Amino acid sequence: MGTLLVRGGRVIDPAQGIDRVDDVLVRDGVVAAIGRAAGPTDESLDAAGMIVAPGLVDMHVHLREPGREEDETIETGTRAALAGGFTSVACIPNTEPPIDTQAAVGFIHQKAARADACNVFVVGCVSRDRAGKELADIGALFEAGAVAFSDDGAPVYDAELMRRALEYCRMFDVPILAHEEVLELTRGGVMHEGAVSLALGLGGWPAAAEEIMIGRDIALAAFTGGRLHVMHVTTAGGVAQVREAKARGIRVTAEACPHHFTLTDEALRSFDANCKMSPPLRTAADVEAIIAGLADGTIDCIATDHAPHAREKKMLELDRAPFGILGLETAVGLAVTRLVATGRLDWPRLVDALSTAPARCRGRHHRHRSRRHLAGRRRLLPVEERQFAVSRLDAPGPGRRDDRRRAREVPPLKQGPGRR
Ligand SMILES: [Zn+2]
Repeated sequence: MGTLLVRGGRVIDPAQGIDRVDDVLVRDGVVAAIGRAAGPTDESLDAAGMIVAPGLVDMHVHLREPGREEDETIETGTRAALAGGFTSVACIPNTEPPIDTQAAVGFIHQKAARADACNVFVVGCVSRDRAGKELADIGALFEAGAVAFSDDGAPVYDAELMRRALEYCRMFDVPILAHEEVLELTRGGVMHEGAVSLALGLGGWPAAAEEIMIGRDIALAAFTGGRLHVMHVTTAGGVAQVREAKARGIRVTAEACPHHFTLTDEALRSFDANCKMSPPLRTAADVEAIIAGLADGTIDCIATDHAPHAREKKMLELDRAPFGILGLETAVGLAVTRLVATGRLDWPRLVDALSTAPARCRGRHHRHRSRRHLAGRRRLLPVEERQFAVSRLDAPGPGRRDDRRRAREVPPLKQGPGRR
């Protein structure tokens, strides 16, 4: 691969406390030095006016394979990740079959290696067959390289099971990634329950459904000493609960999705099924609370919950269409536009929320195959500051598509990533 000199960019690496204009020397795909380089290099890249950051990490991605290859595959999903600036993703195990065995973890690692796009960390199921009845073989999954555990798509409903999972995962110091929802309150719900759902006559999904479950899981994390990671926080109440739990020293981390700090339930007035996601878009006050939570670190990281569905499924009417929105290719553009260009987050905090913080939230003891798979694959990502912050604000539609990825539209989030 040889040597590459990235010249004159604003180098931001929160892990090392670096934020300065400098050169970065990359040798065989690995960062060798930051600072003025001596001697010639094989290649060089002028990064003046650009941010040079560690490769971004998305700890919440649905790659759909195995079982739902019509929606996404490991190959298309990891290419989408790279196009969006992500050099590592963690894939959520609600596939068909779910990732609840060592063989299933091995399958993902193998497919990811073959795709040769970004790094893929595997999240294992909390419960066997993701059925919420008995614990999956968490020890074996960890041995196979699982970095965290989740039944996402659904909550871990049985409080006793959640308690055991938190206790068990504590031995390995890996987190439970929790989808927080009280199902009795969301039955028939397609959107946030409030004035808009009432006006549209659509089934409601109240904020309390999320807040009650976050409360339960924080109590269980405090009780067990286990690590809880609250996925896709959407409500002001949820943000407040996480803030308070952190202040009490409970081991809780949290993530927010770009659509949840960008759009509100007003978007459903379009009856566009692309605005139907789980958990749903909330109110302007909730959006404000999420942004404040990201700014003060209550919400550690930004994760996309990239949840693709084949176009024909999303063309169904709102009641019948599946939940989910794409995220990998739009996350950086939205984050820069909504958070940095508005002055709510500075660049170092945004880079932290998209790279260092997710790595902190995730399990750190990923040895074995995933570690080997990562060897020599640390990458730096140059992104063009002005392009993200300004020119993309009025971009008319998705950027040029890479035809190796599935052709698909990304409304209602129309900003494409800066560099294709
Ligand atoms: Zn979820």
